[in-house]
Amino acid sequence: MSDDYILAIDQGTTSTRAIIFDHSGTIVSTGQKEHEQIFPRAGWVEHDPLEIWTNTREVIGQALSRADITRHNIKAVGITNQRETAVVWDKTTGKPVYNAIVWQDTRTQSIVDRLAADGGVERFKPVVGLPLATYFSGTKIVWILENVDGAREKAEAGDLLFGTTDSWVIWNLTGGVDGGVHVTDVTNASRTLFMDLETLEWRDDILEAFDVPRSMLPEIKSSSEIYGTVESSNLLREVPIAGILGDQQAATFGQAAFDQGESKNTYGTGNFLIFNTGEEIVHSKNGLLTTLGYKLGDAKPHYALEGSIAVTGSLIQWLRDNLGIIGSAAEVETLATTVDDNGGVYFVPAFSGLFAPYWRSDARGALVGLTRYVNKGHIARAALEATAFQTREVLDAVNADSGVDLTELKVDGGMTANDALMQFQADILDVPVVRPVVAETTALGAAYAAGLAVGFWETLDDLRQNWQEDKRWTPSIEPEERDRTLRLWKKAVTKTFDWVD
Ligand code: ADP
Repeated sequence: MSDDYILAIDQGTTSTRAIIFDHSGTIVSTGQKEHEQIFPRAGWVEHDPLEIWTNTREVIGQALSRADITRHNIKAVGITNQRETAVVWDKTTGKPVYNAIVWQDTRTQSIVDRLAADGGVERFKPVVGLPLATYFSGTKIVWILENVDGAREKAEAGDLLFGTTDSWVIWNLTGGVDGGVHVTDVTNASRTLFMDLETLEWRDDILEAFDVPRSMLPEIKSSSEIYGTVESSNLLREVPIAGILGDQQAATFGQAAFDQGESKNTYGTGNFLIFNTGEEIVHSKNGLLTTLGYKLGDAKPHYALEGSIAVTGSLIQWLRDNLGIIGSAAEVETLATTVDDNGGVYFVPAFSGLFAPYWRSDARGALVGLTRYVNKGHIARAALEATAFQTREVLDAVNADSGVDLTELKVDGGMTANDALMQFQADILDVPVVRPVVAETTALGAAYAAGLAVGFWETLDDLRQNWQEDKRWTPSIEPEERDRTLRLWKKAVTKTFDWVD
């Protein structure tokens, strides 16, 4: 057993990683490559699917060579991915008909408005758990069909396939035009707006309302089963592909939050808090999404409530790339700690509107409370605090929907390296914040799903044993100060509404 490993591919928003894990869930080696973020216009965000596929092959090679192992030691491949990002490709040529339209992209607002004109944005929510919003992949498929020359005709003829990047990578790994397997899992399917949460099938009536041909859609599978094997020209040839989980569900799985009432919060480009509701479908009254948690083979699915926040880590990137007040993401902490407090400044990063719990696509970002006193340290601090405040509002919604208050928050993702942010997060939540040793929970979750399918791991209890605490932050702020600053934050949020004409 000791020479056997699982390889996880993490096809993320900013980069693609391949990570090899051993039986204890420890990282053996990593390959990673960033891909270009394409911003053709304000509000548009694209990726090149061919670049993503090239990078996927390259990072697999990096991970294998760094660990000095071959495919014979890899028992299975698991895939996790940026979720709502839509790729549409021609199955006869293997070429995308357009760039991938990324989850943050807001170009589909008019499609959302058109669909919402008949029944409002919550029209399909009782069936699919989601409001109509630009965020979800379904609206992005419609945009491609309506705006790419010849796409509609090809789609009607059955030549076009849609997939999130899990489907795109697996189709290519399993042979592409030569018999590629066209599948996705329940967690990714639950982000399209097309899947019925109860039956776990595509809904024909919704597809009709969107005018999307069913032939484009992948087959919906569980999150843990053998979907196919890697084709013969690849370094991983003949290795089974045996796990798929959307990135946030993968992180939840990697955090061993398997049971009802368990949760995690991931701090990446955006923030995503997932609360496991077990076998129960809970419809939120407080702006959360209802989504699939995971489904292991033939077992019953686990559902979840999710609080999605569009802009957290990407605000730090914006400080770096657009304002140039920091040279790297890590420097934001140094700059923020040059001042004692936020100087009265609140930064609401509604760059893509506001997601949970507001769902206001008419909102745009605001920096409020500015005075002559304010310097870049205060702005850096306000940018970090924005992540913590947004998380607090999502946690309040989770507590209200579930009727029980979370007593601690498990965290992961790139921003959890920021000590000042994590301390402020504990202060503003008034519960401890806990980070595990393996911070790559997303990749780990995908590895777990694949490893369970091939018997590399036997039970969820085996996986629970692997979870170890690395660091804990406990609240240390005065309650009056917490209340005051939260009140000001909420007031700042209201200043962003109704900004789009
Ligand atoms: P993703 O999986 O969404 O690509 P990651 O989990 O890799 O994201 O996290 C990267 C994000 O975290 C970036 O948006 C970056 O700006 C932010 N980030 C990384 N390090 C820090 C830090 N020390 N402080 C604050 N933000 C950080």
